[in-house]
Amino acid sequence: MLSNDAKFKKLLLLHSRDRRSKTLNNELTNSPKVLAKLEEKIQIEKESMAMATNELRALESLNNSLENEIISISEKIAQHRNKQLEVKKNEEYQALETEIAAQLAKQSEKEDEQIEVLLKIDDARETATIAEEKVSVRVQNLEKQRLELLAREEELKKDIEIISGEITLSREEVETPMLEIYDRTKKVLSKPPYIAPIEDQKCSGCNLRVSNDVVSSVLIEQKITQCDQCGRIVYIER
Ligand SMILES: [Zn+2]
Repeated sequence: MLSNDAKFKKLLLLHSRDRRSKTLNNELTNSPKVLAKLEEKIQIEKESMAMATNELRALESLNNSLENEIISISEKIAQHRNKQLEVKKNEEYQALETEIAAQLAKQSEKEDEQIEVLLKIDDARETATIAEEKVSVRVQNLEKQRLELLAREEELKKDIEIISGEITLSREEVETPMLEIYDRTKKVLSKPPYIAPIEDQKCSGCNLRVSNDVVSSVLIEQKITQCDQCGRIVYIER
């Protein structure tokens, strides 16, 4: 029986090592793309955090400039009051009084404006804090995934090296004619499996029915045989 044949079993072992190597290599090839995606996500999270903080900074700077304006108005009022002590004419005194009243009105307007800005600062600070907390949890998670991915890459490189050594050993153990058929099959099929069992007279690689000739070649002649539909090496498990 082919599937119990020691030589064929060696080919099956080579096949399973080749498949594993292919899977590991695919994962490693794909890894930089996954890494780039993660880094992009981290960047987006950080930018959203910066946006929340920027709004707060803008409001704080608006508050500072209002504060300065209010101080300079107070200074102007104080100057006018001093002048009032020096002027002799009543008209001049009255003119200063009018100016002071105008400045006081302006001051109170700016103070109202400042109160509104201060309330907005409270809201913005709360929003920024919540955003920061949420984002930092998300960023931490993403960073963790990133580190895990980098560690996985190292693990993959090691595993690929090990499996490559095992494949070399396996290839030395498979008989040359069998190995040649196997290599040709591998070349023709772009993806594994390159060897598939026949179940209910169907090739489990392509799921199509194989001819009676194929079955008899495997069962009776016990030869290395290929599926007449997809070209995979087929065998019958018993
Ligand atoms: Zn097939």
